[in-house]
This record gives sequence, structure tokens and C-alpha cells, in this order.
Amino acid sequence: MNPKNNFFDTNIAFSKGIGDQRALLLHGELGIETYRDMLLHYPFRYEDRTLLYKTTELNSQLSFVLLKGKITGMAMEGTGAKKRLTAFLSDGYGAVELVWFQGISWHQKNLNQHSEYIVYGKPALFSGKWSITHPEIDAVLPGQPLQARLTPVYPMTEKLRRKHIDSRVLYKAVESILERGYSEIPETLPLPLIRKYRLISKQDAILHIHLPASENSLHQARRRLKFEELFYNQLQLIRNKFYQKREQPGAVFDNVALVREFYEKHLPFELTGAQARVLKEIRGDMRNGVQMNRLLQGDVGSGKTIVAFISALMAFSNGYQVCIMAPTEILADQHFSNMQKMASRLGIKTGKLVGSTRRGERDILHSGLRDGSIQLVVGTHALLEDEVRFHNLGLCIIDEQHRFGVAQRARLQQKNTRISPHILVMTATPIPRTLAMTLYGDLDQSEIDELPPGRKPVATTHRFDRHRVAVFGFLREQIAQGRQVYIVYPLIEESEKSDLKDLMDGYESISRAFPDIHVSILHGKMKPKEKAFEMNRFARNETKILVATTVIEVGVDVPNATVMVIENAERFGLAQLHQLRGRVGRGGNQSFCILMTSYKLSADTKKRIDTMCRTNNGFEIAQADLELRGPGDLMGTQQSGAVELKVANLAIDGPILKEARVSAQEILENDPALAAPENQVIRAHLRHLGENATNWSRIG
Ligand code: ADP
Ligand code: MG
Repeated sequence: MNPKNNFFDTNIAFSKGIGDQRALLLHGELGIETYRDMLLHYPFRYEDRTLLYKTTELNSQLSFVLLKGKITGMAMEGTGAKKRLTAFLSDGYGAVELVWFQGISWHQKNLNQHSEYIVYGKPALFSGKWSITHPEIDAVLPGQPLQARLTPVYPMTEKLRRKHIDSRVLYKAVESILERGYSEIPETLPLPLIRKYRLISKQDAILHIHLPASENSLHQARRRLKFEELFYNQLQLIRNKFYQKREQPGAVFDNVALVREFYEKHLPFELTGAQARVLKEIRGDMRNGVQMNRLLQGDVGSGKTIVAFISALMAFSNGYQVCIMAPTEILADQHFSNMQKMASRLGIKTGKLVGSTRRGERDILHSGLRDGSIQLVVGTHALLEDEVRFHNLGLCIIDEQHRFGVAQRARLQQKNTRISPHILVMTATPIPRTLAMTLYGDLDQSEIDELPPGRKPVATTHRFDRHRVAVFGFLREQIAQGRQVYIVYPLIEESEKSDLKDLMDGYESISRAFPDIHVSILHGKMKPKEKAFEMNRFARNETKILVATTVIEVGVDVPNATVMVIENAERFGLAQLHQLRGRVGRGGNQSFCILMTSYKLSADTKKRIDTMCRTNNGFEIAQADLELRGPGDLMGTQQSGAVELKVANLAIDGPILKEARVSAQEILENDPALAAPENQVIRAHLRHLGENATNWSRIG
């Protein structure tokens, strides 16, 4: 369906049963303008719909019919070769005889009189009576749909429905388009791939995704379309990676003086094996003359910060600057104070730039970055602004909550016009492999899959609201032992008044329940200064309880805090719960996470809570989250528009994704320019995709 100005560009108005008025509606409501659009508007589910005949409707014109009725009696008739079992099926209108010459004893044993059956077969008239010999017969189970033809059900809008445009109108249109267009649908995958993975053709895939002949043909159609979708996703990502490696020279960081000095004099703890391995991977990237583009994944508390810092040292030693970009001001503050502590010992000058940074400070910072006297800057999106310029930027570290747009990555890179700085992306929460592959398939990937030694897993429990008194008692014990406590309230939208009220009510009731204890409060409506003030009081152990919204979600590090109470835990997603829990368990003491909920829980909520109580492993949690919510909601992928998959489902299509990735990799390795004859279909399809999709190829 690629070439322009062909049959598939025909306006949908010309399709059977559509016409001008309906075409306008379809365009306005569903964006369907051409035959091609119509064929690419896939059904989202299928109905088992069955054409049932009455026994009184049988006639000699019919070939196969489907009947439904009760068996009213059975009899053995005839002898020898004519020996047969006859069952009488009545549907309330009339009756037919069902006849078996074979499998007599099986049917005798398994068919129940007075039970209801669905029967499929060819009726014949013998001496005035209708009978079906050797029919397919199935007991009707309560609630089980009838197995017959699968009828497509299309995504629809209310307005279309009011105008009597329903799924039937759409599939009739599809039928008429396919009647003429089926054989015109061009193949979009190379033949060797189709053979290797036994995929059906594009033509059949389009036909059967709309009008499946059977469950199996629907399955094959889906598999083919999923493969294609994932193959092109991977092909484009891997092509960008290859392009980058070929085209983008990277600064070579040969001098390791500062790294050595840090190891010898200042290393606060011994690195874990995983941290050392990842640093070796990064070190390799930084000396091979090619720009690094690497994703670093690691669970909360796995120690990504020190890895980021040591990577930065590699740049400083070689006269380059480093910027670290974080998703929130609080996290930027945290990174800044961590980094500054370590950096000052080595004589490295650091700066911070966030939205609330004052003009005067900004000016000083800007000039320090321009003349190179400030070597490290930590900040938020504010770093992206044009007025932020560097003397010699060599490494960008991006700590992500959601994927920053590709464009934003590119903007950071452009801050050095002589040579593209190396890029290290760190995820705040682990993401499942399938998602990592589709979101970050253009990056090399490293994982910290080991926690620092001596960590005690956080003990997680679920408590109902009515256990609050006991929970408060427990908090008091922990505080008496010198520990600190977080109590977190949901605040989906910082502007939601009722949420803020919940938080304030909570704060008051906690202050009442703990009159002798200093309590801090933290929420998004507060000014950055006030936030920092409250946060610091808690970090210095001057307040024992911090009542907060999710603003504390990322990054905050107070090792003395050992209890995380999450109020209305049913309102949090799994990733968020895990992030919050990651705020405790950072010191040597046993830590606790208490999930508070009301009594009534949905099945999904129960699963989330159970998952949290069962495991501390971020990757496991991410996978469960993916299964529960689907990939669309995860990682803010919608908002960044990073991947939009129409048919593939990353929660279940891992195996297909793997095949697609391996194939894309192989093809590009053997034929990077896609010049081989069998790869021409790929080029053609990429051109077609390029018209509609983001062009990824120039990011680098
Ligand atoms: P995250 O990966 O969540 O950013 P951090 O870098 O904040 O994790 O590390 C969490 C805590 O673990 C910090 O207090 C840090 O000092 C400590 N830590 C990191 N690596 C080690 C290690 N190898 N041994 C002991 N403690 C470590
Ligand atoms: Mg961190």
C-alpha cells in the first residue's frame, strides 16, 4: 500500500455503502480518508456470531447448517454394516435425526439426553425426515459463545453510532475494498524473513485481521502484523545506532588522573561487582573515539549516582565539562549536593541550574560554564535553554523519570559544536526488557543488577485503614529507636483540591497523634525555598515524620528513615509504589513499607499490593506493571510519543520482539545500505513510514 496515487489513495467516499456524507464523518471522527486508511483501521475485537437455523427452515438448497437443540432420545438401529446410532434433536420448532455409523459407543456414552447441543453438518432428507450424518456436535456450556464466524468490531465514536455507522458498515466497506484491492497490496517484508518465520503474506494478514476465516487465521494475521511492526521499530532504532557509530566521532578520554585519585583517596565504599562492570563498559565507550549513547538501568538504591560521578571524572581529567539533568528540582538538588560533596574534594567546581534559580546566580553560572571555570552543572530542563552554553561539554548524564524527548537529547548534544558529547541515560525505575528494547533500542545498555552489600530487603505489609492505631503505635516505636518516618499521600494532580485537603487533614491528625514529635510537611504547592527548607530539616533529623505528596518520589536519600507509610495505596501505580518504597532501606537498619488501603479493593489493586508485598525486585515489579497496565501507560510513552504500537503488545510479545530485533540486526549488519534486491521492500516501506512517522535518522 505504499506507492502514491494508486488504488489505495482512492477517497473512502467511493467505497461501497459510504458516499460523501459518511466519508466526511469517517474522516472527522476516525481520520479515515482513503481506502488505505480504512484497511489500516483494524478491529479491536471480534464477536463470535452464529447464524442459527431452525429445524423448520431446512431445505435442500442448504449445504451446511448450524442447529441448536436438545437430544430427546437415542436408538440403535440396523445390523452389520448398517448398524447405526440415531439421536433425535429437537429445537422446539421441529426435529432432525443425527446419525452415526462410527464411534457409536463413544457417542452413546457421552451424549446426554435432555442436554443442549450445537450441531453442524449437512442435512439430507430421507423418507420425509431430515437427518445429518456424522455431524460436528458440541455441548452448549452456559456462557460459552457459539463458535462460528468471527465478526470484526471496530473502534467507533458516539457520533458515528448516532449516524448509523456501525462496525457492519465498516466491514462491508473493507470487504468491497478488498474484493478489488487484495491482490494489489504490496508485500512489506523481505521474502527470506517471511520464509524463515513462516509468516503469512501482507495481503492475507490484512484480509484476516479484518475478516478472519477462523481463530487460527486471525492469530496468523496478528502475528504477521506484530512482527512487521516490531521489525520496523527495531530496524529504525538499530539503523540510528549504526549511523551514530559510523558518523559521530566522540571525544577520547585518555587521562584518568582524577579517577585514580578518587579511587585512592576518596572512594566512600567498595564498588559492587555490577558497578565496576558498568564503569568498565562506560570507560570502553569513552576511549574508542565514537560518541557514547548508553542507557544505565538499575533498581532504586542500586548505586547509580557514584557510577555517574566516576564517569564524570573521566571527562574532567581530559578538560571536558559535564552536565547532569534530572526530572525534578528536588532530585536535581539531591544530585547536586551529592556531587558537590565528592567533587569539591577533587577541586572540581560545580553549579546548579533549575527553574527557580535567580537571575543573578544564573548570570554567574552562565559565564562560568562558558569560560569553563565551572566543570560540572546539575539541573533540570532549564539546562536545555539556549542561553546555557559550554566551553567544552564532553558528557551529558540524563536521569530520567520518563523518557525525555529525542529532540531534547539532541538539544543537549548540540551544546558542543565541535564534537558531540557522550550521553549516559539513567532510568529512575527499571523497565522490562521489551520496553527497554523499543524505547531505547538505539542505545547500548548496561544494567546494575546487584545491590550494595548489607542491604536488608524492605519488609512490606498491607494494612487496612482501621488498623491505623496499631500502625501509629509501630511508628512511635521506630521513632523511639531514633528512626524517621515518611507518610505519603496521593496527589495525582497537584491542583486537585480534595487531594490537598486529604494531605492537610492527614498532617493535622498526625500532629495530634504525635504531639511531642516534630512533623514536616512537603507538597507541590509550596515554594521551592519552603520545600528545600522542610526537606533539609528532615534530612538533618530535626523532624521525625515527613508528611508529603509524591514530590518525594524520586531520588530523596535519608538513610535514617526506615518507615514508608503510603496512604490510599490503591491510588498509586506499581512503579510509583516501588519508587516510594525505595526511599527507605538505604541505611543499615531494617526498614518497613506499610501500604494503607480502604477495605474494598479491585482485583487490579489487589494484584498491585500483592506484588509489592511479594517482591523487592524492580524488574519483576516493572514486568507485573506492564502486564497490568499495558505499555501505553508506562513510562509516559504517550506523552513523549516514543513508541506507538498498533498491534504488538509489549506485555506478551517479547518473543516476537526478540525475533524482530535479531532479524533487523542481521539485515543491517549484512547490508547496511539496504542495497540488496531482497531488501528493496524495506527501503520502500521505510520511505512510506518516513512520510507519516517521526524521522529518527538525524538524531545523533
Ligand atoms: P540509585 O541507583 O537509586 O540512584 P544511589 O546512587 O542513590 O542509588 O545509592 C543508594 C545508596 O547506596 C546511597 O546512599 C549510596 O551512597 C549507597 N551505595 C551506593 N553504592 C554503594 C556500594 N557499592 N556500597 C555501599 N553503599 C553504596
Ligand atoms: Mg538515584
